[in-house]
Amino acid sequence: MKLEFTCSQCKIQNKFKPVTTTRGELQMKVGDEVQLICKYCNKEDKKHINRIDAVVDNKKILFALIICAVIAIVLLSFYGLIALAVISIPLLIWIQESKSTHHFNSYKIRRK
Ligand SMILES: [Zn+2]
Repeated sequence: MKLEFTCSQCKIQNKFKPVTTTRGELQMKVGDEVQLICKYCNKEDKKHINRIDAVVDNKKILFALIICAVIAIVLLSFYGLIALAVISIPLLIWIQESKSTHHFNSYKIRRK
C-alpha cells in the first residue's frame, strides 16, 4: 500500500509520506491538514488528510510476483530432478543387468 494525493493544478498523483496504516494514525502524525508540494508542477497546496488516498502499490505486487515465479521455477526444477532420478533407477538396473549378463556370457568355459 502507498499513499497518494492528487495535485489540484495538474491532476497528477503524487506519492505521500509518511505512510501509515490508518488515516487516524496519519492524523496523529501530521495533523488534519498537510502542506504539500506537487513534484510535477511545484504547486504548493494545503490538503485535508481526507483527500489523501491509499492505493495499491503495483511495484510491490510485481516484486512479489517475480519472487514467487522464481520460487516456483526452483521448486519445479528440484522436483523435476527427483522425477529424473526416479526414472533413471530402472535404467541403471537395466544397464547393470545387461553388463552382468554380458560379463557372464562372454566368459566361456573351455570344453575339455
Ligand atoms: Zn501538480
